[in-house]
Amino acid sequence: MTSLKSFDPATGDLVGDVEITPVDEIPERIARARAAQAAWDALGIDGRAAKLSRAGDAIAARAEEIGTLISKEMGKPRREAIREVRGCADLSFLLAELKDALAPTELYDDQTRSTVYWDPHGVCAAITPWNFPFAIAHWLVFPALFAGNAVILKPSEHTPLSTQAYADILAPLLPPDTLQIVHGADAQGRTLVASDVDLIAFTGSREAGKHILAAASANLKRAILELGGKDPMIVLDDADLREAARFAARSSFRNAGQVCVSTERIYVPDALADRFVDLLAEETRSLKVGPGIDDDTQVGPMITDAQRDHVLAHIRDAAARGAKVVTGGDSPGGHYVTPTVLTNVTSEMTIGRDETFGPVACVTPVASEDDAVREANDSPFGLGAVVFGGDRERAQRVARRLRAGMIGINRPVSGARGAPWVGARESGYGYHSSRDGHRQFAQPRVISTPAS
Ligand code: NAD
Repeated sequence: MTSLKSFDPATGDLVGDVEITPVDEIPERIARARAAQAAWDALGIDGRAAKLSRAGDAIAARAEEIGTLISKEMGKPRREAIREVRGCADLSFLLAELKDALAPTELYDDQTRSTVYWDPHGVCAAITPWNFPFAIAHWLVFPALFAGNAVILKPSEHTPLSTQAYADILAPLLPPDTLQIVHGADAQGRTLVASDVDLIAFTGSREAGKHILAAASANLKRAILELGGKDPMIVLDDADLREAARFAARSSFRNAGQVCVSTERIYVPDALADRFVDLLAEETRSLKVGPGIDDDTQVGPMITDAQRDHVLAHIRDAAARGAKVVTGGDSPGGHYVTPTVLTNVTSEMTIGRDETFGPVACVTPVASEDDAVREANDSPFGLGAVVFGGDRERAQRVARRLRAGMIGINRPVSGARGAPWVGARESGYGYHSSRDGHRQFAQPRVISTPAS
């Protein structure tokens, strides 16, 4: 067996390793999952809920330890990593929501009485990225299992240990082979997608998502794809500029910009742009860059040197085409990129169009609200968007014109508990979380009788 080594992006030190799953073993793993799935399904909603609910205490008990591992393996500040794990530990709302979503639904009219059952698809391949290696596994695996599917989880090759920790908590609570893990890179992902699975639940890049959808089309496998973004933020002329700049710094630099809903494009009225850029630069320069494991670190390293080079190439292209580097713009060494503010960014620049996924805030002055909306919508992506403004009704009108799946007004994009996590356009296909999101892990089956 060959091992997959996991390195600390801050130091280059080995964090640990796992065995790579040979691709020719994957069909046999899927056959085992399929054999286990019928008994798992037969437990019914209450039986499955009873087993899965035991995960909450186990996750809570290990939050500090796993958070430390995540911080070492992917570089994010340790306290954020612990929060990521703790956020998965309280299962009470999720379990109630899943029960409500998947309980049979009764319908009738004058002639017909129907029951809609929410049955499992069968075997689900869950393929996950590295930027939230514990939480994203949870968001895909937990509802897939609850719905009665067996799951094969394929973590990112950059964070195998953090995602393995999730599987290590869940798998012992379940019948053998109900949750299995396959380690490796895109070869393992491609093999899974091409194999005899019934549902693919994927979070990752738009490019991999397009490949998966094409591969799934061969025999019309079901697919839930959460993909990349290029999120805009619109600052209206009645916004609290300091609050807007603080938010922009948090949203552009959290997890070193390696968040699918990072703010990557900021549109500010011409007359306010200089003041906004000054405030944003002040916030940016105050950030402490360093290893995630240090208590005072606010911005960690990029996951790989390739990701650092990708971000620096975006900055250089922008500078060469006329953007102004207000602060940052370089690497202080290692995998780090100095938090950067650019202004006068246009959509002709690579950084104005493609996902950067690094600590870069790009400001574009605009002449009017209409221009801001047009520029914000001028992207094939449509994951999140943010509007900052003093007049709520006006901000709401602007938000309704944006073609994103999740829009925050004076706050981040994520919705209230129970809202879906959803991308529009090329940022997603299907979605998860919420009652409707949970139902995508199930096959509706309608059984009808005469009413009388
Ligand atoms: P990635 O697409 O490179 O890899 C994601 C996973 O897919 C990994 O496990 C990888 O091994 C596997 N993979 C890669 N190519 C594959 C293929 N052709 N077939 C099957 N599997 C394949 O993404 P990444 O670099 O790990 O993560 C960053 C990306 O994920 C960014 O684009 C980010 O915006 C996106 N993301 C989206 C969300 C969301 O909720 N919309 C959340 C987090 C990350």
